[in-house]
Amino acid sequence: MILLEYEAKSLLKASGIPVPNSSTLPVNKTPSLPIDLPVVIKSQVPVGGRGKLGGVKLAQTDSEFHQHFTSIATQTIKGFTPSTLLIEEALAIKNEYYISLRIDRSTESIELLAHATGGIEVEENRADSFLRIQLRGSPTLTQGDELAEFLNLNSHTFALQDLLANLYSCFVNNDATLIEINPLILTEQDTLIAGDCKMTLDDAATFRHPEWDFETPVHEANFVTLDEKGNVATIANGAGLAMATVDAVSAAGLTPANFLDIGGGASAETVLEAFKTITTYNNVRAIVINIFAGITRCDEVAKAIISAKKQLKTLPALYIRLAGTNYNEAKILLDAESITLLSTLADCIEAAKQEVQNA
Ligand code: GDP
Ligand code: MN
Repeated sequence: MILLEYEAKSLLKASGIPVPNSSTLPVNKTPSLPIDLPVVIKSQVPVGGRGKLGGVKLAQTDSEFHQHFTSIATQTIKGFTPSTLLIEEALAIKNEYYISLRIDRSTESIELLAHATGGIEVEENRADSFLRIQLRGSPTLTQGDELAEFLNLNSHTFALQDLLANLYSCFVNNDATLIEINPLILTEQDTLIAGDCKMTLDDAATFRHPEWDFETPVHEANFVTLDEKGNVATIANGAGLAMATVDAVSAAGLTPANFLDIGGGASAETVLEAFKTITTYNNVRAIVINIFAGITRCDEVAKAIISAKKQLKTLPALYIRLAGTNYNEAKILLDAESITLLSTLADCIEAAKQEVQNA
């Protein structure tokens, strides 16, 4: 599951990583300024790029605070409207850096990725301009040293050694699969502080974290993120068919973003939740839906598809194969919305491949 920024920052803070003073406010109440001005008001939606879209605003005065609060509270960003806004002390920024840890399956390690120019344009940096260190166990002081050297922050070597050690324990203790601090801010006061944080936790570890209580819905164990940067998402029913669908995507040279078995009695609502999560993956160009309905009913799946199309403006292309219980009812519902069905999984994969290639 992808945490909201304030949820991610509370885990960073608990691990000893400096974060700005802040407070959260619900969108549906008239706010009063919770901390001293100037503040930054930040939309709590599970997607990046909020700054560019007007979801992060600086307020110098009480009237600016109220004005920005109202505009951000009612603004939809990439299909998401916030329930909560984060109000943070505004920082005087001297420089912005990028630092992240992620599970790297290819090297079977936790990979540290860093860049000396963080902030909103980090994706534009060439892949080979990042520092990459494969961590196998707790980071060493030498690795912290290397990080400081790379970021040109030699006067902050001790702080970065601490930060790296704390980030690593935050990652491992919370069963994270990704923690990204972007930007890591160097303030005018010469301190390092996490300006923004994206954190993904492993849904499959939910059972050993009774303390997990996030706004973000916890997915059932049958939703597994495989690769957040994947280009094709999958929705299927039955673990075997779901695995076969992922395998077919992969065999076609595409990168599956997730595994999802919607299970037997899936309601339109649970399927809609899955669509919402999929729209948070930036690189997904197509969703392959492969349902062989027994207990699952095709018309319930069709209803979820229709409401997802209406509610989620950034929904990628859908390639759908349905068979089994209530197929005819589903076909009528989908026809009325001009949503087409394909007859085989192979057709869906081929169409997804075209979509990815044309993107
Ligand atoms: P994102 O656009 O969703 O990644 O949101 P961020 O939280 O990363 O904010 C985007 C940008 O807004 C940052 O890179 C900063 O340049 C700027 N920003 C965020 N917080 C502050 C702050 O406290 N002070 C100032 N001056 N700028 C900020
Ligand atoms: Mn950011």
